[in-house]
Amino acid sequence: MKNGNGKYQLKGLTLNELQQLFKGLGEPKYRGEQVFNWMYNHLSNDFGEMLNLSKSLREKLSEKFSLESLKLVTVQNSPETGTKKYLFRTEDGNKIESVVIPDKNRNTLCISTQVGCPLDCKFCATGLMGYTRNLTAAEIVDQYLLAAKDYGKKNITNIVYMGMGEPLLNFETTVKTLSIFTSELNKGLSRNRITVSTAGIPHKIKELADSGLRVKLALSLHSCFNDIRGKLMPINKKYPVEQNIEAIKYYSKKTKTPIVFEYTMFKDVNDRDEDIKALTKLCRQLSCKINVIPFNSIAHMNPGGFGATLEPTPKDRIDDFVQTLRENNVTVMIRKTQGDDIAAACGQLAAKNK
Ligand code: SAH
Repeated sequence: MKNGNGKYQLKGLTLNELQQLFKGLGEPKYRGEQVFNWMYNHLSNDFGEMLNLSKSLREKLSEKFSLESLKLVTVQNSPETGTKKYLFRTEDGNKIESVVIPDKNRNTLCISTQVGCPLDCKFCATGLMGYTRNLTAAEIVDQYLLAAKDYGKKNITNIVYMGMGEPLLNFETTVKTLSIFTSELNKGLSRNRITVSTAGIPHKIKELADSGLRVKLALSLHSCFNDIRGKLMPINKKYPVEQNIEAIKYYSKKTKTPIVFEYTMFKDVNDRDEDIKALTKLCRQLSCKINVIPFNSIAHMNPGGFGATLEPTPKDRIDDFVQTLRENNVTVMIRKTQGDDIAAACGQLAAKNK
């Protein structure tokens, strides 16, 4: 794809695409590996640095190709938790956000796949801002590369596709970026440290299973009941719970990876005893873990309708809920709320455009 400056974007190309490109330029295939290393391991934004390429090749590349994609606008730090939020601007003036979340022995980068999101989940700030467009592979990869430049590449140990947007609605691009991150040549990352989170698009879940990438998959479940899930997540009317469960079973079997269910807790909506029963029944059917997420406020987005009625489940009830599930032999984690002081927690990403 051409940039505003009329040059072709090189970032976001997979190893295979780079090898083909150099072949097309009459260069040996290994040039593709060299440039892959420069872009994705050395975080290079400048052909001039690529000293294992001849000067004439470097000049030729900089005439035709570009390595510039996102611009870093601001970095915000959460003094409480060490969470860091990066605000980027795309070439066409859109704003997107990524977050680094530190934990005991890992630092997780949460990246966005779309500007806004078309799914309109009633509890999510990104959903409330609406949808503008898919991000390009360069823009998705660049969130990692620019955050890695600031945070240290080896310090970012995990990547989750849980920022703005629905990754499986930007499917081919998401797959391309996964192939870059999981490439053997990409140092410091591996497929079992990368998680794609989806609101549930069954045929795309199966396609991802068939891609051979074998990354971790998280399904935003939030309720086992179609009537409730449909109110929280309008996409459930198109793809109900059963279809998603069937698809994730396929995913889990094909990739031999356990599934993560994300479960944001809303008072009196999905925190009842019958919800515990339904979750227990579900978790007996496959290898999985539940991530319980406290509902982070989206009051700053002034939600209307059903969204305005949602309240967080009190902490005591979350603890009881989790305790009972554990007694039922379900593996459950409570995701710590991190970064809400800088609006960087789950579902709070909604960069103001302009
Ligand atoms: N579209 C993808 C990824 C983005 S959302 C998906 O739906 O999975 C990442 C996670 O944050 C999802 O589980 C989502 O349901 C959850 N989330 C969204 N808004 C939230 C909020 N206000 N509080 C807590 N979790 C939220």
